Amino acid sequence: MKEAKVFIFAPADTTGESHKMLEDSGCELIVGKANWDTPQGDSELEMAKMAEGCDALVGTSIRSTPITQKIMQSSKNLRIIAKYTIGVDDVDVDAATELGILVTHGPTESNWGGVAEGTITAMLTLLKKVRERDRYLKETGGWRDMQLQGTYVGSRASDGYPGIVLGIIGLGRIGSRIAMLMRPWGMKMIGYDPYVPDSKFEEFGVRRVDLPTLLRESDVVTLHVVLNKETRHMISGPQLAMMKPTAILVNTSRGFCVDERALIETLQKGQIAGAALDVFEHEPLALESRLRKLGDKVLLSPHMVSSNLGSGLGPGIRWATQSVLCALRGEVPDNVYNKEVIERWESRFGGKNVWDAERQARVRA
Ligand code: NAD
Repeated sequence: MKEAKVFIFAPADTTGESHKMLEDSGCELIVGKANWDTPQGDSELEMAKMAEGCDALVGTSIRSTPITQKIMQSSKNLRIIAKYTIGVDDVDVDAATELGILVTHGPTESNWGGVAEGTITAMLTLLKKVRERDRYLKETGGWRDMQLQGTYVGSRASDGYPGIVLGIIGLGRIGSRIAMLMRPWGMKMIGYDPYVPDSKFEEFGVRRVDLPTLLRESDVVTLHVVLNKETRHMISGPQLAMMKPTAILVNTSRGFCVDERALIETLQKGQIAGAALDVFEHEPLALESRLRKLGDKVLLSPHMVSSNLGSGLGPGIRWATQSVLCALRGEVPDNVYNKEVIERWESRFGGKNVWDAERQARVRA
């Protein structure tokens, strides 16, 4: 009798429901540390040991020890790496594809819709000086500081004020949801995404431009790209230098999409007005990071822009758990990220249920 072996490398299911579901289906679980910001083991080697002989790896984003080729190679049975979240930059997807392993992710609306709402909140917090006015009242005992003027964001019919220019980089799920939510404000929206058709720009009321134009014209630049070789440090010194001195940058995608060092220097020199960041090159953000010393020029959030009561990772955990069970039965689940591997995977595992006849008979009995 063969039990399926599942390594939960970065557990985030506080209810334990998904663990129970896997166990009830006949999976032996190896559960990593609940705090996935700290290393699961001392090294990649430790993770590889925990993954030995596993049929599936599942978990949330793992900042400390990405899922490398070495970890994958520690089990020739490995069928699937299932992420609770949208991003898969912590998995060596090329290696998985090469090895014939499925990588699935969880683009649930509770996650990406939450990022869109949180991004707009961050943008408005900076533009409307929400923190500064609150602090002025509480800390100075004063009433109004007339220096604390906000920015009128939308357009106005009454005096022809055009509103700000919102620049969206990456018009995928999150970028287009932001456009949809902001459209009624009547501001001008421009976007850069070489991989979506013109019709999508038209659908969401966004004018297609190239990246330099977006950087030069926008009052708010907001980043919603996947992190890959092409987008790593896509916003660095030269790009920041193209932005208006009054503009702000919002990054809720991945820390490495922005060259953090260049951003800090740009902010210190006052070459742009501010930045709102939910993601960082290294997480958790180091205590000594210069970003923590930039006061109101930065609005920082601990990579939890999409964490909301009653939503958060829950739906993603359910998807990932179903994906694991599906792959263990020898079926291709939804939300496969590396679709190019499917044919090869089917020839390796297609129709091959991990639970042998004896096990199934026992479960049925
Ligand atoms: P998506 O795949 O729907 O959209 C990404 C878009 O980026 C696509 O339209 C793609 O064409 C575009 N793109 C790719 N390369 C580009 C390039 N070089 N220049 C411009 N555009 C490019 O993904 P999504 O669901 O909108 O999520 C976007 C990113 O947000 C994710 O990859 C993830 O890293 C991040 N995210 C962060 C959090 C968080 O908690 N902060 C949560 C969810 C997702």
